[in-house]
Amino acid sequence: MSNEDINNDSKKQSNFIREIIDEDLRSNKHNGRVQTRFPPEPNGYLHIGHAKSICLNFGLANDYKGLCNLRFDDTNPTKEEQEYVDSIKEDVRWLGFDWDDREYYASDYFDQLYEYAIKLINKGKAYIDSISADQIRELRGTPTEPGKESPYRNRSVDENLDLFEKMKNGEFKEGEHVLRAKINMASPNLNMRDPVMYRVLHKSHHRTGDKWYIYPMYDWAHGQSDSIEKITHSLCTLEFENHRPLYDWFIKELEIFPPRQIEFARLNLNYTIMSKRKLLSLVEGNYVDGWDDPRMPTISGLRRRGYTPESIRNFSERVGIAKRENTIDVSLLEFSIREDLNKRAKRVMAVLNPLKLVITNYPDGQIEELEAINNPEDPSMGTRKISFSKEIFIDKEDFREVPPPKFHRLSPGKEVRLRYAYIIRCDEVIKDEKTGDFLEIRCTYFPDTKSGSGTSTKKAKGTIHWVCAKNHFEAEVRLYDRLFSVENPEGEERIDFNNFLNPNSLQIIKNSKLEASLKNVMPGEKFQFERTGYFCVDTKYSKKNSPVFNRVVTLRDSWAKIEQAASKSK
Ligand code: ATP
Ligand code: MG
Repeated sequence: MSNEDINNDSKKQSNFIREIIDEDLRSNKHNGRVQTRFPPEPNGYLHIGHAKSICLNFGLANDYKGLCNLRFDDTNPTKEEQEYVDSIKEDVRWLGFDWDDREYYASDYFDQLYEYAIKLINKGKAYIDSISADQIRELRGTPTEPGKESPYRNRSVDENLDLFEKMKNGEFKEGEHVLRAKINMASPNLNMRDPVMYRVLHKSHHRTGDKWYIYPMYDWAHGQSDSIEKITHSLCTLEFENHRPLYDWFIKELEIFPPRQIEFARLNLNYTIMSKRKLLSLVEGNYVDGWDDPRMPTISGLRRRGYTPESIRNFSERVGIAKRENTIDVSLLEFSIREDLNKRAKRVMAVLNPLKLVITNYPDGQIEELEAINNPEDPSMGTRKISFSKEIFIDKEDFREVPPPKFHRLSPGKEVRLRYAYIIRCDEVIKDEKTGDFLEIRCTYFPDTKSGSGTSTKKAKGTIHWVCAKNHFEAEVRLYDRLFSVENPEGEERIDFNNFLNPNSLQIIKNSKLEASLKNVMPGEKFQFERTGYFCVDTKYSKKNSPVFNRVVTLRDSWAKIEQAASKSK
């Protein structure tokens, strides 16, 4: 996809980050250069929150004719894996963005970071501490109480250099020594109280193998990585706001290129968790069918569910960029995919809970080909033929023996239109004597009411969908609902997910009746099942000529209703 297409997704709103960039361009701060980066830690699959950050960073680079790097912040060898790196690249690409050859890794900078550390030691701005991690924590103080200096804080430069070299060479055990920045143990900002820069870890790294016995802390690696890549605008979420003075301090002491860090509010969605740690425990606990379970808020889950890149980009744009924490209603995400699929998805007929209907006055053995419109929103998508015969299936929901008021579907003695076909009247319902279940509905049709060409002026109050019993096929349909039953599952500290998982988040229907045209669909293809919802052919369980359909979203649009209500009350 070209950048132009992406820019046309929806009108870009101005925001405080754009204002900062505009001002930097006016003052020619970086000779007009705009460079951003998306810096994931490869310790899990990306989620919809990351998608927002991707759209923001790559989107700004596109709009300002700048560049956006993809940088893996891989400083923690214990949690990172190649599988995650691969999935992250796939997801960013799928969202429609391109980093060309600018695929970087913090681990590529381990040598440079080591040199930088030596520079700080030489300046008397870093030292080797040899107390335990617990003691470091104790001496750190609290927000209201200053910290205390470690007895090793005033080691000589030579001793520090010597110990650091030995740390690097693997001569110490894990936890024996750390390298700390020498800043201010009394600073009101805890991040400035001599933060740890390096720890000893005898672990293999997914890229550097066994080369290193010491690994940089995130706070030491992150800002310097931005600087090495000459990132002009380093965008991150609000929790890093009070790390900024530390990042600025490192940059100033090292006298290297100064990126400007700008914080924005992370995306929070109700009924959703976004912490990778918690998503990983859902996967590991088999509460879901892997990272790409269609109920997961991961990009791969949303893709499998049937979300499109356009819908996610539009959602990110709609959510906007805020300076304060807020929570977005998940129905806005659902609105975005409905809006996109409404324009693009082919309409088809599928009956999820079939009930047999016999048209007693229709000729036996006759099959009629009727014309159906593929998408009323887009005439260029054309029409298709659907079969009609004496026996059809309708949805159980569309029949009531005793109809409630305003029930404009089928009930004894009542008439209804069959979509693209005829008006019928219900004459009789045949029930199982023992259970009372409906076995068959018997109707008469009115031959002169054929859609499009009928001569009758007869009108029916309702229209229902149906599938031909002669020419159809059966498929598995999976109906998804929210994974969590509580509005703020992120706030739940309970480890036992069973307490707040929605027990009805997946309903599998084995014998849905689908119109014959759906037999040869491709995994990932999307449809609107008329009157039912949007559905996507599952990429994991579908087989040739035996597709499995995931419900992307229902047709009911609660967000549009909320907006309508809001605009009425204005
Ligand atoms: P998590 O807490 O979900 O594990 P993280 O921040 O640790 O997320 P990273 O891999 O470090 O995950 O994130 C990469 C980038 O994505 C960072 O710049 C981060 O600020 C951004 N990001 C992560 N979560 C969100 C979110 N919910 N909304 C917006 N941006 C986010
Ligand atoms: Mg992180």
